[in-house]
Amino acid sequence: MPEAAESGCAPQPATARIRCARCGGTPTTAPRGRWWCPSCGSYLILDVDSSGWVSHAELDHRQRMAHNRRVVAVSARLAAAHLPEVRSLLPDGWSAATSQAISGATHTIAISPPVGAVDVSAYLSPPACDGEGGWSVRIHNRTQGVGFPLYTAGGAHAATYSTVLDAAAAAITALRCEIAE
Ligand SMILES: [Zn+2]
Repeated sequence: MPEAAESGCAPQPATARIRCARCGGTPTTAPRGRWWCPSCGSYLILDVDSSGWVSHAELDHRQRMAHNRRVVAVSARLAAAHLPEVRSLLPDGWSAATSQAISGATHTIAISPPVGAVDVSAYLSPPACDGEGGWSVRIHNRTQGVGFPLYTAGGAHAATYSTVLDAAAAAITALRCEIAE
């Protein structure tokens, strides 16, 4: 993928205008039309988002961070959009709200039964990408200090649910088991 910025018909920018984003140094030309920063000891590639010339490792890092930000943003949107559906399914006295465990984490829909002897919630995680994967459910029993995902019937894999209502129904069933103990 890094090769993409090097191919095509666009002329290479003049050397004088290229600066290594890390050290500010001027790169030298290298075979196959690439740029080499002697100070950093790395080839440079154009980060089109920032218009900066960075190493392949730095570009990989930036793209991973950008991907993570997109995943978190999608999760926030999906959790907020599907909260009313989840609420429509809740028994009397139960509550649901969007939740983010820590800053930078993906957003979930938290379902909690009425306050009782057992302090337990279920967290519904949206699909990681639009239209791909499914919803997953994690139970957190604070009274017992345990957390676990809901598994498929065979128990080999964490279960995914194609709709938020399926996930909410499974979460409610699991929570009822937790508070009945
Ligand atoms: Zn450099």
